[in-house]
Amino acid sequence: MADSTTQHGIAIIGAGFSGICLAIKLKAAGITDFVLLEKAADVGGVWRDNTYPGAACDIPTALYSYSFEHNPEWDCKWSGQAQILDYIRNAAKKYQLYSHIRFNAQVSGASWQAETKDWHIKLADDTEIGAQHLVSAVGQLHHPSVPDIEGAEQFKGAMFHSATWDHNVPLAGRRIAVIGTGASAIQFIPQLAQTAARVDIYQRSANWMLPKIDSPYADWQKWLRAKLPLLSRWDRLQNWLLGEIGILPAMHGNRLVQAIIRHKTLSRLRKTVSDPETRAALTPDYPVGAKRILFSDDYFATINRDNVKLHTGKVLRINEHTIEYEGGVSEDIDVIVFGTGFITNPFLSDMTILGRGGVDLHAHWHNGAHAYLGVCTAGFPNFFMMYGPNTNLGHNSIIQMIEPQASLIVRAVTALRDSGRRSIEVRDEIETRYDDELQQRLNKMAWTQVDSWYRDGKRITNNWAGGTLEYKRRIGNFRDEDYVYQ
Ligand code: NAP
Repeated sequence: MADSTTQHGIAIIGAGFSGICLAIKLKAAGITDFVLLEKAADVGGVWRDNTYPGAACDIPTALYSYSFEHNPEWDCKWSGQAQILDYIRNAAKKYQLYSHIRFNAQVSGASWQAETKDWHIKLADDTEIGAQHLVSAVGQLHHPSVPDIEGAEQFKGAMFHSATWDHNVPLAGRRIAVIGTGASAIQFIPQLAQTAARVDIYQRSANWMLPKIDSPYADWQKWLRAKLPLLSRWDRLQNWLLGEIGILPAMHGNRLVQAIIRHKTLSRLRKTVSDPETRAALTPDYPVGAKRILFSDDYFATINRDNVKLHTGKVLRINEHTIEYEGGVSEDIDVIVFGTGFITNPFLSDMTILGRGGVDLHAHWHNGAHAYLGVCTAGFPNFFMMYGPNTNLGHNSIIQMIEPQASLIVRAVTALRDSGRRSIEVRDEIETRYDDELQQRLNKMAWTQVDSWYRDGKRITNNWAGGTLEYKRRIGNFRDEDYVYQ
């Protein structure tokens, strides 16, 4: 499609939930001179990449879907990866976005051109394209984090990360070790345990965990949802309220909400896990809300199985057939699965973005990433981010954040075009004031109490401090005077 002479109005990096949402909103606003640059050969982002057994939404799907794209066909309340991926593909098809997507186009960098006031974008295959606006829609969770464990290279079995699952490796009847017990691992461990000869789990931290109480929707329920979309709206409202009232306050240190979640976790543990030592190992040693609160109906029950063993000793070394950990050496294993999460900092680590005066975005963020409303940063004109710094949530659906971000970007592009100018950039003092306020609020939250992927050193760079309604209100309040037009 494009070559070095191609010039676009807007170049969007990534065709996952964020990029597709923005493309839909741009089209709705009558803006069609955009291209989506997608590094892979399909849309879907994390839902294309994460194909591990049991991969599913850990937010009820009624809420983990676009507010404008109701889907009565969800199979259950917390839908699986395949159905979510289909949902994104269908949205891309329905809104006729495929002709805008350039697949296998990995962006390696971009630089702001002061004279022409546009971005020169470089792809990994060395082609260059131009765009007046550049939007990063690459998400926060796409670089697998594989710990550097001594001896790993000599392991004779198969070894892979949850986000790059090797489906060629047979798992039934095998002896499997899983390192990490976060949101992804608690989904795939119950699946592995059903057929594996043995699953050894190496846990660094336990999780506060609530039940999903999931079950498949009957055909009549899907039929009813199709006929009465209001039902899905009602579902959305209830689930949204649960996150805002039933979970978010825990992150703000609300003792009552923390006590309720603690009680729910511990009473389920007591009912499900018979061995007191294992129960103790599964009891988190940090405040409720300091890390992501997880949802599962089957994780605790899985730990009870005869073929599952939970280890809490640190993994020290990987040998040809075994794992050495604080407390012993494993029996022989065939497969090691890393459920060890993602490298989230620095943001946009695999791209070099050079803004005004050639300033590198990573140097600009040397004390940790920051952005006004998570969307734009001073010194980088016509550059926007979706799911950028301080926009992740620990309590609600990320789509609640993505949609207003897309609306803001459409608003900014439209305002600029209406003004007859060529560039728009947030004022430094506006961003600084916003960031100071945000950091002050974040510093009082439970996330400060443990180390996690939400932080870059001491600074919380990934999460938003408030509720989704506040974010929507603030981002919706677009004020011309907050930006410099040139
Ligand atoms: P994660 O939640 O960051 O969990 C990583 C796990 O690996 C943690 O238990 C961590 O322990 C452990 N770990 C990391 N490095 C380790 C090391 N060197 N040695 C031993 N253990 C180590 O990662 P994830 O499970 O992939 O999930 C990442 C995020 O993806 C989630 O927070 C969530 O936002 C998202 N997610 C979403 C969905 C969805 O449905 N929407 C589903 C899955 C995941 P510590 O806790 O001690 O660091």
